Amino acid sequence: MDATTAAVLAGFAGLLTGALAVIAVRYSERQQTQLPDTTPLATSLPPGVGDVLAVLRSSAIVVDSADAVTKMSPAAVAYGLVRDGELVHAELRHLARQVRRDGVIRESQLELSRGPLGQGRSIMQARVAPLGSSHVLLLVEDHTQARRVEEVRRDFVANVSHELKTPVGGIGLLAEAILDAKDDPVAVERFAGRMQVESHRLAQLVKEIVDLSRLQVADTLHEPRLVDVTAAVHEAIDYSRVGSDAKQIEIAEACAPDLKVFGDEDLLVTAVRNLIGNAVAYSGNGTRVAVGGRLNGDMVEITVTDQGQGIPQAEQARIFERFYRVDGARSRATGGTGLGLAIVKHICANHGGDVTVWSEEGRGSTFTIRLPAAADRSGGRIDPASPTAAPSQGDPRA
Ligand code: ADP
Repeated sequence: MDATTAAVLAGFAGLLTGALAVIAVRYSERQQTQLPDTTPLATSLPPGVGDVLAVLRSSAIVVDSADAVTKMSPAAVAYGLVRDGELVHAELRHLARQVRRDGVIRESQLELSRGPLGQGRSIMQARVAPLGSSHVLLLVEDHTQARRVEEVRRDFVANVSHELKTPVGGIGLLAEAILDAKDDPVAVERFAGRMQVESHRLAQLVKEIVDLSRLQVADTLHEPRLVDVTAAVHEAIDYSRVGSDAKQIEIAEACAPDLKVFGDEDLLVTAVRNLIGNAVAYSGNGTRVAVGGRLNGDMVEITVTDQGQGIPQAEQARIFERFYRVDGARSRATGGTGLGLAIVKHICANHGGDVTVWSEEGRGSTFTIRLPAAADRSGGRIDPASPTAAPSQGDPRA
């Protein structure tokens, strides 16, 4: 750029700045001379405010000097922040007054009631700023979901660290014991055996934590395939035989042939295996576990019934939570990680199904997995005689 062009541009820039300054001073003077309570809204608010608020996704509210709401975005009404031309929540009114008094922009996280009834609270992030001489603008965002996700993540990390500490600590102590007993081969063998158990437990825990994290991240199945549920149930039973034989528990299978769903076979085997594993772990020696499969309307139902200790009514809603155990000591003694049912729940959800429990203390439990039965492209149920085609990707029931 030559010197002349630069000089001309600099001149323009100067003119523009001057013009903006004059407009700002005039606007400010007009604001100073206006009486806040009597000035019509159109003249006291910067032009275009209404248009901007109308397109805002977050809740935006303008209140005047008498705390009356003069403008708001649709979200502000939807979130129940404004009613009858007033701010519903005393917390927001208080913030607006503070800002009007000293003109200082404020930001605050508030826990606001969701409605006039009940205990529901929402976490709202409010940013409040003066607008013109007498108005105040409130921008309010719902952070409830973000806070919940953060809490779940924090709990999970805390739980994982706690759960890992036990086997890691155990392995450390056993290693010390082996060093101390190096001249006593019998003791060394005993400690080494226990060390093996602890390290197996640790490996299982890490595997389940990774499995669960994957299931939670990938909310849906990537490439659902036609899965033979009958075969999957069979495989899960086979896998569980070692544990059931050790306790002389008979596993009775009553699964209808050719049950089909679209999904991931390995995951479905894992889900059924976890339920059978629990049925065996929480039942006495010599009892019976029944595994059933049938088509019920459009759903494939897999049930695992045991004659074990049962689950108290009050605990039944919580057993699907990560690391929740009715009896921590018993779960650990059986090698449980507290993640088995959380994994089952996520596998079912990823397949568009669910898992429920019926249980009575002292009588036993029945866990039921329900999954949408595979339908052919015309929407009818897959004909068991010709079931080979995989569905088009992304449409698990196509
Ligand atoms: P765990 O690894 O402790 O078995 P799960 O998530 O599989 O973890 O199960 C959570 C808790 O639910 C168990 O600790 C146990 O208290 C209870 N539970 C699960 N299945 C059964 C069952 N079939 N009978 C009795 N209690 C059960």
